[in-house]
Amino acid sequence: MNRIQFAGLAGLVAIALFGFSCKKEATATTTTVTVTATVPDVFKKFNPTVTVSSDGTTITIKSDGVPDHKSCYFATSDARYQAYNGSNSAFSKNPNSIGTKSFTFKIPASPAVNAAHEATPLGPIGVAINGVAIYNQYAGPNQPLTNEINSFDQYNGHPDQSATYHYHVEPLYITLNKAKSALIGFLLDGFPVYGPQENGKTLVSADLDTYHGHTAVTADYPNGIYHYHITADAPYINGVGFYGTKGSVTQ
Ligand SMILES: [Zn+2]
Ligand SMILES: [Zn+2]
Repeated sequence: MNRIQFAGLAGLVAIALFGFSCKKEATATTTTVTVTATVPDVFKKFNPTVTVSSDGTTITIKSDGVPDHKSCYFATSDARYQAYNGSNSAFSKNPNSIGTKSFTFKIPASPAVNAAHEATPLGPIGVAINGVAIYNQYAGPNQPLTNEINSFDQYNGHPDQSATYHYHVEPLYITLNKAKSALIGFLLDGFPVYGPQENGKTLVSADLDTYHGHTAVTADYPNGIYHYHITADAPYINGVGFYGTKGSVTQ
């Protein structure tokens, strides 16, 4: 890099930092998506209530974890309350309710495969485009979701004992309003999660690898990328672990 190129780069960085700081000040009292020059366009698919920023290495996603759709888990006095009207005749509401969180998800800006394929933990393993946490296929250590499924609300989410609302399976509000092939969110390793359809075909787990994904072109990644798919059959979102190196989440 010669001196002129370096000066140009430094100038760009200064403009980017200055622009970011002005924008942040100007919008400090509102909820907004703060997209800097280094945030890839795909992150504009997140709801405006979710804040996305990048330092070029790590994408930081901040959300309150509250769904943007109705649920029987809001208080009955809340305008967002809606009695269960889903299709599960065995529906049984759990005793928890939806709380407001302060999530900070940090995911790699350039996700890469990690041969260790670390197992996913209980709790948040990713974030949906509406800022809701994504959980894995277990209700507890090695406990299948069998009983939990009956407490999923009409949009397939439910709150846990810490009042964290989350999805273990297809978030129906997103796939109904976007598309069955839509971007659903990202896991902590930075790889995207898509709905159950691709090129008009509904995928099942047998179409995917053991981590529940594959490498292919998507609407957001014309050069192709590894991505997970949600399927109607277990393990639903992730298989035996992260495909890449996981970032972090605090709440
Ligand atoms: Zn759960
Ligand atoms: Zn795919």
